[in-house]
Amino acid sequence: MSKSSFNAQALTASLQSVKHQPRKRFGQNFLHDDSIIRQIVDSIHLERDDNLVEIGPGMGALTEPLLAEVDAMTVIELDRDLADSLRIRIGANSHPNFTIIKANAMDVDYRDLYSAERGKLRVVGNLPYNISTPILFHLLSFADVIQDMHFMLQKEVVERITADVGSKTYGRLSVIMQYHCETDYLLTVPRGAFNPPPKVTSAVFRLTPYVDKPIVADDEPYFAIVVRETFNHRRKTLRAIFKKSTLLPTLSEDDFAVCNIDPQARPETLSVSDFVALSNQAKRLEV
Ligand code: SAH
Repeated sequence: MSKSSFNAQALTASLQSVKHQPRKRFGQNFLHDDSIIRQIVDSIHLERDDNLVEIGPGMGALTEPLLAEVDAMTVIELDRDLADSLRIRIGANSHPNFTIIKANAMDVDYRDLYSAERGKLRVVGNLPYNISTPILFHLLSFADVIQDMHFMLQKEVVERITADVGSKTYGRLSVIMQYHCETDYLLTVPRGAFNPPPKVTSAVFRLTPYVDKPIVADDEPYFAIVVRETFNHRRKTLRAIFKKSTLLPTLSEDDFAVCNIDPQARPETLSVSDFVALSNQAKRLEV
């Protein structure tokens, strides 16, 4: 299929025969806007030999134009009816290198999809919004075999993930994601691009896990606790947060000085490297 021959409206029409009723519990909002679909696919900059994995292909709105750009592709779909109809339409006959995994994307071991020959994974998906953050955290645990990820989520969540330090959306999700990955906000997608339209505006973003992180915490699980605990009290000063918290040690003025952090500052003014310095210092006091 050539790039220009893909037509999502024709696809949707042809799928009427499948008579698929969107299932709310699977977070099903199907893309039907050709121009948006084209922009998403173009934003990924695929190469023919990429090891492409799509989570939640649904009725294939992204799958078909993606498949036109690569030699091989794997999709992971939870809804068995949708997986079966994809298998009939673009299964093994027309595309020998198209693999369908019927599974919950949360249970997949992404390392199984990696090989030195096939290369690192390029993961794509219009994700079910109800499980968006758990899926992101699950995927982060495979960051060493993932080249990048392009996802659609609620715009509000994408803004939090990609937020700059100091902005009002900057928080736990920004710090944790930006610790592991470079994050890029790519495009805003209106509700009308989906059928049925979701309740809120969506956005597409890119996560590129660092091969070498710019800064590494001495203890990553502890770093995650510090980030969560401080943002649980985002209106308080750092001095007060560390003093009151039962999970964190009290930090002295000297401890803050070692980190080059003002104890009067509030969490949203701390960069990722500030959080790493703070968690390293706090951890030293624990042992
Ligand atoms: N990519 C399609 C469909 C998006 S809707 C499009 O853009 O039109 C989200 C899709 O994710 C649905 O097909 C839904 O069945 C699937 N899905 C929901 N939860 C899932 C999970 N845990 N694992 C894999 N797929 C899931």
